[in-house]
Amino acid sequence: MSLMRNLPAALAAVALVGGLGLAAAPARKAAPAKPRLQESQMSLEKELLAKYGEGQRTRLERGMKQVTQFWRAEDGDAKAYEEFVRTNFAGDGPTLDALFERMEFALESFDGHTLEINRDFRMQTDLDRGTIYPFDETLAAYDPSAHVNDDFFANKIAFVVLLNFPLTTLEQRLSEGDNWSRRQWAEARLASRFSKRIPADVNLAIARAAADSEQYIAGYNVWMHHVVDEKGNRLFPAKMRLLSHWNLRDQIKADYGDSTNGLAKQRAIQQVMERIVTQTIPKAVVDNPRFDWNPFTNEVRPSTEKDFDEAILPAASAAPKLANAPEPDTRYAKLLADFQASRKADPYSPTAPTLIARRFDENRELPEARVRKMFEDVLTSPLVPRAAKLIEKRLGRPLEPFDVWYAGFKQRGKYSEAELDDIVRKKYPTAEAYKKDIPNILQKLGFSKERAEYVADNIIVHPARGSGHASGAAKRGYKAYLRTRVEKDGMNYKGYNIAVHEMGHNVEQTFSLNDIDHTLLSGVPNTAFTEALAFVFQGHDLELLGLVKPDAKSRALATLNDFWGTYEIAGVGLVDMAVWHWMYDHPNATPAQLKAATLQIARDTWNKYYAPVFGKKDVVLLGIYSHMIDSFLYLPDYPIGHMIAFQIERQMEKAGSIGPEFERMTKTGNVAPDLWMKKATGAPVGPEALLPATAEALPEIENAKD
Ligand SMILES: [Zn+2]
Repeated sequence: MSLMRNLPAALAAVALVGGLGLAAAPARKAAPAKPRLQESQMSLEKELLAKYGEGQRTRLERGMKQVTQFWRAEDGDAKAYEEFVRTNFAGDGPTLDALFERMEFALESFDGHTLEINRDFRMQTDLDRGTIYPFDETLAAYDPSAHVNDDFFANKIAFVVLLNFPLTTLEQRLSEGDNWSRRQWAEARLASRFSKRIPADVNLAIARAAADSEQYIAGYNVWMHHVVDEKGNRLFPAKMRLLSHWNLRDQIKADYGDSTNGLAKQRAIQQVMERIVTQTIPKAVVDNPRFDWNPFTNEVRPSTEKDFDEAILPAASAAPKLANAPEPDTRYAKLLADFQASRKADPYSPTAPTLIARRFDENRELPEARVRKMFEDVLTSPLVPRAAKLIEKRLGRPLEPFDVWYAGFKQRGKYSEAELDDIVRKKYPTAEAYKKDIPNILQKLGFSKERAEYVADNIIVHPARGSGHASGAAKRGYKAYLRTRVEKDGMNYKGYNIAVHEMGHNVEQTFSLNDIDHTLLSGVPNTAFTEALAFVFQGHDLELLGLVKPDAKSRALATLNDFWGTYEIAGVGLVDMAVWHWMYDHPNATPAQLKAATLQIARDTWNKYYAPVFGKKDVVLLGIYSHMIDSFLYLPDYPIGHMIAFQIERQMEKAGSIGPEFERMTKTGNVAPDLWMKKATGAPVGPEALLPATAEALPEIENAKD
């Protein structure tokens, strides 16, 4: 399951706002006027040092610098600034402790209560509770914390924090953070909440660009019954409408199971994907079944088949003048608009002054150079050609480029989906039945009876309207919510599988909020961690039903599946990174220039890491991911997520039991990822667990008899 699609709503919102909040290169618009504060500094500093002692010099100088960095004319003149510093500098231990404790308590309260309000306002749209009225949508869209940053700068709470607690760079957090006390980490997290002051119009521009590119991606469907081969044969069934890139890729994966037409279908989809990346796709065939299209010759004809309902199609697609006119680089125009909006925030984010820095230094807290190295370690691993050879053997043919999505390591279980549905439906006819069983499930996962009951008491189970999500609390004592689908006749296997995943989130949320020392450190370092922890639970779902325990072979297959998936997505991540760098280096580029650059980057990356095993050069498939267009440099999270999941799972295996290890890990909270991982497993984040596991798994399958 994807990381982003499964994020709890509140977390996703935080991740998105955080991500977009941090932007890129210097924008042309000048920062707002600042009053002249320099003259006031010297005498004020002298006065306060006389009062509090020379020992406060470093703190005071840093605090004043941090405040002036964000102070604007609207905040007051030099006199007001002086008065502010004089009144609010906490120059002795007891005052500083009181300020820290007050801020921790107040922010927990603010975050906790606004989250509760938010969840309540979304209740009707999130849960399976009948009609959604227009006012329900309005309630759901409301975010009570939307203006908190502006409010806290306006009433100067943000400045009080900036005057007294240190803003830190990633480099500091990494080089010094291992030796920080928990309080120092909590102070760093407290200050970082106010590390940027982005004007409302800039945030609005970013939100508009994001919504616009998201809408473009959400409508990018291909009607597969109308994709024909040279003889006009239709390879795909009527009404099949695939969203790029997710459904197209998943169809390639599914077609490994089709021994008659699978290969022809996979080749056709690859061709469709390449047409999208190169923008040679005729505009008329995007989400439009009125035309038949041969993606190899690019020929377009009015369709002879009608497998659609006029009402669901955009009217504009009815009669384009030139049916085979290509899409006019819209894909790259959207990406460019994301970039132009993002960089408007750059001048207001001094500790991370580009979107690239905001993503790596703030959201991920892993330096970009290290992330690149981790990806290259996987991409250049000698295990890649071995895995490739094994796939060729299993397929009985040479690899083709779309085999980056090879899905044949995934095993079909012993039980059919229908059998599993039956078993689960009987066991969990209602959400309440699942809720009642949580203490048992947790004990099967190795938690003591006491801990299992404690966590179970903190979880409320609701039938979800959509597929499911987990929504933790942000204030101690409030509950965590598990939402999953429960059909009228009971939970089916898919709903159960998701429930186990979401329960993993809930257990993490419970420990990492209620059982740690500082609420300013609640949570995990980044979303990849919470997903990895949830996957640990999810991976045991069949055992929890008492059905199967994976044997050595199925474990080896699962490892190879992860390895090949990481190899594929690591290259995609590198393309995303290189394209953002190119945009920052060419801020005045046109969509056509961005397209040319992206194609070059995709080809170069392919030629370096994939062509040697695939035996074909200049493939552009690595540029197909939709996230590249609407998710602002999100893609590197996937390969990092795979590596983190592996590290965590291996550690649990080593420990021999999930429960106590899960609790120990999640109580570390939101410190830097490497520090978290070192505490959890003894090693920093990286492919150090994935690669050895793959090396062990390969011979297991290479030497298998069947
Ligand atoms: Zn999840």
